Amino acid sequence: MGWFTSRSDQVGVQTRLLGPDDVGTAGGMIRAGQLVVFPTETVYGLGACAIDSNAIRAVFAAKDRPADNPLIVHLASVDEALDAVPRGEGLLRAALEGYAPGPLTIVIPAPSWAVPEVRGGLPTIALRVPALQVARQIIAAAGVPVAAPSANRSGRPSPTSAVMAMAEMSGRVAAVVDGGSCALGIESTIITAVADRELVVLRPGSISAAEIAARLGCPVRGRTTHDAIAPGTRYRHYTPVIPVILVPSELMARAAAEARGLPGGAGTVVLTAEQFDGFAGYAEQLYRAFWEAERAGAPCILAERPPPGHDEGLADRLYRAASAEYRPGVLSEVVQYPEG
Ligand code: AMP
Ligand code: MG
Repeated sequence: MGWFTSRSDQVGVQTRLLGPDDVGTAGGMIRAGQLVVFPTETVYGLGACAIDSNAIRAVFAAKDRPADNPLIVHLASVDEALDAVPRGEGLLRAALEGYAPGPLTIVIPAPSWAVPEVRGGLPTIALRVPALQVARQIIAAAGVPVAAPSANRSGRPSPTSAVMAMAEMSGRVAAVVDGGSCALGIESTIITAVADRELVVLRPGSISAAEIAARLGCPVRGRTTHDAIAPGTRYRHYTPVIPVILVPSELMARAAAEARGLPGGAGTVVLTAEQFDGFAGYAEQLYRAFWEAERAGAPCILAERPPPGHDEGLADRLYRAASAEYRPGVLSEVVQYPEG
């Protein structure tokens, strides 16, 4: 398809824009050690050959990502994923059988092919089989396990469209495959097992802990400080350049009125579940809404937060993006309004 010229401040490769029919080309490029951004049902991933240390180092460079923040390895089929999971990990095998292909990532003892760079030096590895067919076709065409962290610069919101991915990665990757907008819009739920007795959610996502517990009939809990941590969750993440203020549903109208009454506050972006037809639609559109607010030069984003215990994936991303929680009167203190 087309070509985008790199921006002068960037690494300087020309980034090709490919279409969903170019899965063979995209897979061949990954196999050859190049970086290719492709869509999945969660967010756009920055794909690279997971058994090639040089390709993985290039991923960290393209994302400005700390080397101790490991990558999720994507496989083309559930059978290949099951092959990588030790026999003794019954719960994680059941989780794969229940949810793969789909937005669930499992952390397992590292198989021998996992190079140290992709594991961030850990003895474990994160594994997922994406549900989106284009993604699986690209991985199958590559013929290798494909590391695919979200295609954003480290710390930024993940891209959920090819246009957003191009804005983050143009000049830093060999190609971006345009597969439309991501259906789910937030990153996968990451789980691991403790002694094959209980599952621990290391990163919340659209599959909830309660849902996994009900389906698999085992205890599933959130992460505590005693668990092996998901390293990336230490870092500031998912954050747009403008302040995000979390607002409880019942204070939404009041917060919006307060923001718009401040000098320069007219451009405040307000995000509510209602405008996205519920919290699932809100999660799907969250990063795009952040992106559009940035491009519009909004002074701040007022974001409704889900009620406690609901939509834990969306709630997690909002908490990580947020710089403050709304209280009446707080906006003039936490937001730099243009002439306020
Ligand atoms: P991303 O691919 O950008 O969506 O993020 C990958 C995240 O997966 C990392 O930031 C970690 O939180 C998690 N992860 C990857 N590998 C491991 C691992 N071996 N153990 C625990 N968490 C992991
Ligand atoms: Mg990420």
